[in-house]
Amino acid sequence: MLRDEIIQKAEESPTGIGAAATHGRGFLHTSAPEMTRCYLVKWSTLNLTAPDLYVDPNDSESQKQELRQLVAVSKERVSTLYGKYTATPIIIAGHTMDVMKVYGDNLYNRAGRSCSTPVAAFIVLGPQGFLDVNVLAHELAHAEFSARTGYWNRGTIPGWFDEGLAVVIEVLSNVVDR
Ligand SMILES: [Zn+2]
Repeated sequence: MLRDEIIQKAEESPTGIGAAATHGRGFLHTSAPEMTRCYLVKWSTLNLTAPDLYVDPNDSESQKQELRQLVAVSKERVSTLYGKYTATPIIIAGHTMDVMKVYGDNLYNRAGRSCSTPVAAFIVLGPQGFLDVNVLAHELAHAEFSARTGYWNRGTIPGWFDEGLAVVIEVLSNVVDR
């Protein structure tokens, strides 16, 4: 039963199987225009609302507060399975597609994406994933996986393993969240 539930949730997931192709895994991503914008986010018009957490300046204060709380809860969930959250991804989020259009890699991904490079990891959240703890946990899990393996070793591990682990962490919310 649990297996069937996980498969069903993975198929329904905005970040799971159907969206797997949107997750950055290759070196090409480090030279893509949106990646350059990610590297330069510190000098953008986005607001820094917590360390390594940039938001659309049009997001409301309550949205920013909720996002900060969800990031903490999501890291805690990933930590439950990994023991400790060690990754330091830069999160870029917005409640509209504006942020995703600039920092994401396509216009159809409304949830989220993660992309690790040799020097930094980024998570970009669109309107569907902006305040979704499951999407956050999924993307944070990708960043943790990359941090654990190291960028250069990550490519030696099949992508489905990384994706599967992220989906498991994504759908285990009612088990591990407090
Ligand atoms: Zn994924």
